[in-house]
Amino acid sequence: MVRGKTRAAGMHQKGRQRVCIVCGNERVGLPVRNDHVIHAIRWIKTNITKNEKNNVLVVCKECYPKYKKERSRFVSRMAIYVGLGIVFLVVGLVIASVGTLLFTLPVLALLYLLSLLNYMPDLDVQAIRGDKEAKR
Ligand SMILES: [Zn+2]
Repeated sequence: MVRGKTRAAGMHQKGRQRVCIVCGNERVGLPVRNDHVIHAIRWIKTNITKNEKNNVLVVCKECYPKYKKERSRFVSRMAIYVGLGIVFLVVGLVIASVGTLLFTLPVLALLYLLSLLNYMPDLDVQAIRGDKEAKR
């Protein structure tokens, strides 16, 4: 019975499929917030790899506990990378030689990319609040 519901919900949103970001299946779930990383990924998929399906990204009920765990892991890892980035930036500014800056900027870029490796987007809290029926 869950399967039939999924199809109906997918049709609602202008024919866009709702796909769970954890299991990758077409599911009903909590909507994911479209942040800058997701925009960037969509841009790459539209303009470079040309395989953007324009799906609505959700987290399904079954995957929610796993999502929670992954999300908190991502957030704490992000905090470490931000901390490291600040240390590098401060050291770079204190030493402030051209060589240090040339070294610091790629390190910062690398830290940023590394922090996105296990990217877990936030949920769209506003959409969930206005859509409590679908949650249950
Ligand atoms: Zn799922």
